[in-house]
Amino acid sequence: MINKPKGTQDILPQDSPLWRKIEDAAHRVCAAFGYQEMRTPVFEDTSLFQRGVGDSTDVVQKEMYTFEDKGGRSITLRPEGTASFVRSYIENSLYANPQPTKLYYLISCYRYEKPQSGRLREFHQFGVECFGGTTDATDVEVITLALRFFEELDVKDLVLNLNSIGCPVCKKEYNQKLVEYFKQYEDKLCDTCKERLYKNPMRIIDCKSPICSEIAADAPKMIDHLCADCQEHFDKTRAYLDALKVPYQVNPNIVRGLDYYTRTVFEITSSSLGAQSTVCGGGRYNGLVEELGGKPTEGIGFAIGLERLILILKNQGYSAVTEQTPALYVASIGEEADMFTQKLVFTLRSKGIHAESDLCGRSVKAQMKYANKLGAKFTMVLGEDEIKRGTADLKNMETGETQSVSLDEDTIYTMIK
Ligand code: ATP
Ligand code: MG
Repeated sequence: MINKPKGTQDILPQDSPLWRKIEDAAHRVCAAFGYQEMRTPVFEDTSLFQRGVGDSTDVVQKEMYTFEDKGGRSITLRPEGTASFVRSYIENSLYANPQPTKLYYLISCYRYEKPQSGRLREFHQFGVECFGGTTDATDVEVITLALRFFEELDVKDLVLNLNSIGCPVCKKEYNQKLVEYFKQYEDKLCDTCKERLYKNPMRIIDCKSPICSEIAADAPKMIDHLCADCQEHFDKTRAYLDALKVPYQVNPNIVRGLDYYTRTVFEITSSSLGAQSTVCGGGRYNGLVEELGGKPTEGIGFAIGLERLILILKNQGYSAVTEQTPALYVASIGEEADMFTQKLVFTLRSKGIHAESDLCGRSVKAQMKYANKLGAKFTMVLGEDEIKRGTADLKNMETGETQSVSLDEDTIYTMIK
């Protein structure tokens, strides 16, 4: 027997209604906020993520599914959505439309990670990206969209963590302070962080190794070193959130796992998730469009991990059950009746009625047992006599009542709909 690859999941029929409920909520909330759905390829040129996510990130250094295709190109399965959306925004000249460009996605992502609860190798994200929104109100729109989505699904006990990681101007000075700080502990850092120390010291703050995290806990905080412009942007964003009565906590330790963030970064966490507590991560990426070959364009977005969201919903005792019980089960016996049944069932289905018939060659008795198991609301048995007469008994399975009906599709439709 061949099993599914490590770190992947089958979404079984009983879980589909929950997935659909989540997806429906995403579509609804995005429509109200004026975001449009976009879909990009599952795989991209590897260099897109090297440049777009950042060479010194965990995602690029350790987690990408990269392979050479038969044409000798280096291909990578998308580890996230933003880089692809920026590529598409530039490639399809979406910047030529009146700005901002407000987009969202529901996608699968691929990261070679150690599978555990809330951490898979194939997982799914609902995310949004807003390009060309220049004011602080944009940050607030994106953050409140995420919160509205969770509210729509009645998710409880979430915490919004907010931080600013500055712009290239203030980051430069801050990075020097970080290097000075981490240099004292250079021997103790993990090998990856030793390499990052001089190239991209901020990444050390995001390292998952316990020793690096412990050292990073006391590192200087970006939020204490913002330039005047970044400080103003942060203060104004906070003022908007306060005005909207959105609760949040400033968390100076959030730097986010990807390199492209500037200014606002945020994470939404849930206490019911255990170690992998972050269900949503997002922020501004003002330099990314330019980095990937476009004109300087402001951008901001977030991504929500849907498997983690499902863990929260299930921990809250949530279950979405959509009953899929047939309105009518038509049992048949004999070739002529079988043929008639197929035609009848097909016509009713064309009218949107869930009708079922035998596909397993069962006896009439076994067919009725099966109809019961399916929870069919009405049943009917067709044999040679019924076809000849042009009538049959329609049984209401709830009340047990039977009624003789004409074997005419419109009559049956009216009786059971
Ligand atoms: P973490 O710190 O947990 O590794 P991350 O910072 O790598 O998360 P992002 O790149 O910000 O995650 O992705 C956004 C969201 O996607 C996360 O908050 C999480 O909900 C989800 N996510 C990320 N990686 C995984 C994964 N391997 N399996 C399941 N969900 C994931
Ligand atoms: Mg990660």
